[in-house]
Amino acid sequence: MTDDRSSERLIISALKDQFKRDSSMRNELTDGELVMMSSGVCPNCGYRGFALGPRGGASINIECCGCHQRFNVCNIGWAIVMAQRLPMDD
Ligand SMILES: [Zn+2]
Repeated sequence: MTDDRSSERLIISALKDQFKRDSSMRNELTDGELVMMSSGVCPNCGYRGFALGPRGGASINIECCGCHQRFNVCNIGWAIVMAQRLPMDD
């Protein structure tokens, strides 16, 4: 149990490092917003439900089915450990 938890922390740390290299992180979500997204709730509008987009490397693009805000997220199972808002440019 202890070993599983420490290895999970190492994985999260490595994923965060890769995520920071992959993106500018200018629109990074707060810890509170990450908790909301991990439970399937949009931190923008409170809608419960995301459409999954393309996955690239350690991250995946998802879109809120309510306000259509897109996010680039890094997750382990259902737990989202890093996320950023993507520009609403289209
Ligand atoms: Zn939304």
